[in-house]
Amino acid sequence: MLQLQNYINGHLVPPAAGRYLPNIEPATGQVFSHIPDSDAEDVARATAAAQAALPAWRRLPAEDRGKLLVRISELIERDLERLAQAESQDNGKPVSLARSVDIPRAASNFAFFGTAAQHFASETHFQEGVALNYTVRHPLGVVGCISPWNLPLYLFTWKIAPALAAGCCVVAKPSEITPYTAFLLSELCIEAGLPAGVLNIVHGTGPGAGQPIIEHPGIKAISFTGGTKTGEHIARTAAPMFKKLSLELGGKNPNIIFADCDLTEAVRTSLRSSFANQGQICLCGSRIFVERSIYEPFKREFLAGVAALTVGDPQDGGSRQGALVSEAHLEKVLSYIALAHEEGGTLLAGGQRVTLDGRCAEGYFLQPTVFEGLAPDCRVNREEIFGPVVTLTPFDSEEEVLTWANGTEYGLAATIWTRDLNRAHRVAHELHSGIVWINSWLHRDLRTPFGGMKNSGVGREGGLEALRFFTEPQSVTVKL
Ligand code: NDP
Repeated sequence: MLQLQNYINGHLVPPAAGRYLPNIEPATGQVFSHIPDSDAEDVARATAAAQAALPAWRRLPAEDRGKLLVRISELIERDLERLAQAESQDNGKPVSLARSVDIPRAASNFAFFGTAAQHFASETHFQEGVALNYTVRHPLGVVGCISPWNLPLYLFTWKIAPALAAGCCVVAKPSEITPYTAFLLSELCIEAGLPAGVLNIVHGTGPGAGQPIIEHPGIKAISFTGGTKTGEHIARTAAPMFKKLSLELGGKNPNIIFADCDLTEAVRTSLRSSFANQGQICLCGSRIFVERSIYEPFKREFLAGVAALTVGDPQDGGSRQGALVSEAHLEKVLSYIALAHEEGGTLLAGGQRVTLDGRCAEGYFLQPTVFEGLAPDCRVNREEIFGPVVTLTPFDSEEEVLTWANGTEYGLAATIWTRDLNRAHRVAHELHSGIVWINSWLHRDLRTPFGGMKNSGVGREGGLEALRFFTEPQSVTVKL
């Protein structure tokens, strides 16, 4: 059986204590690999390797660092099919999704930041006849990158690539639930010739391998993507050590559909934004608010689309919905379906676990699920479910829908569907969301700031924001 290893100081190595954890394929419910159950000793070794590599790495011209990152991007593209199969096996997502979204976006993360470092500039402030002030942005040093299970390689590389581009060395931990492509990435980094110790990947659980990363005094910053509760714990631990923090956390995103929208396009994209990756994308819209005059036609077309979302083996090209990531997560999502019934919701579609035949008989499959008739402020409409469950709610005015859309503790993303440009901009401005898509969803430009307001996070990733995060400004003044 496949046995993953840590990537420390340029080598694939077993965990210091020799312990391994089983890794389950969600589509089959069977163990398909074992992963290091790393602890503080592994993190200490990884951090020491990163500290040793740092002086040479930060001195390397940005162009040379960039060439290595672009090389890694090319290797990801070369191995796209293998990586897509691995991501699907580890996470349960349809292989078609991993092939078209996860892996290409991981490659573009390295390509983008490989070249972005060369375009990164700092400021000068000239005081006529008095002084010249210039800012130098120094790499922070050794940083920690911790990522979740839903878009494993995509989000892992979204942190690692800018950190390396900025001249930092990295100790990274992927989710213990989906470690496979991070392991394959470590093989590609060796092949690309990334110097030893520049990137170190430590596998294991949150408490076992993640906690020592956030506590290690030699790690100067933590870039974390995951749940709001974990983010709060990380902030509580790392802030008193004055570590810089970037926290990308949960969401409960609204889709606002006005009557003047392009209904066909709004329905088509809302199906994707509701159920892509089985609803396990932090940017999925789980609360769909529809202007009352088109509520019934929207509902009819949306439910027809839901009925066509085939739940099946992620390896099968015809499957539109794969497995949820784990049995525990399936149970959590099912508990929210039970809660939606308790809170008075009317089930319009789905609601049941799916049992497939053959190799997937023990997999964690769930029907895409739609409720209506729930109060906008009930728990199902306020708490993050992170699965294929959405609610439909009619609204009568812009003011009303804005109150509901902003009525959760989260503020990550929102979509607006309308042909009225003035309204689109006005509503976007009033939304408490870090990301707003107008007549689209999941459109990506790597230069834009990515992140959430309120309990959805602190700081922004993407573009120059990420390079600023991984560097520390120093102001130098020359008296004239
Ligand atoms: P978790 O918060 O459970 O875990 C995220 C990562 O943190 C995992 O690698 C986990 O390890 C690790 N971790 C857990 N405990 C600790 C600890 N004490 N110290 C250090 N690391 C720790 O999130 P999930 O993996 O369940 O991901 C789902 C969540 O992520 C959702 O809330 C979703 O909204 C959010 N998310 C946010 C995004 C954004 O950009 N804002 C994007 C994608 C997801 P392990 O898995 O091994 O326990």
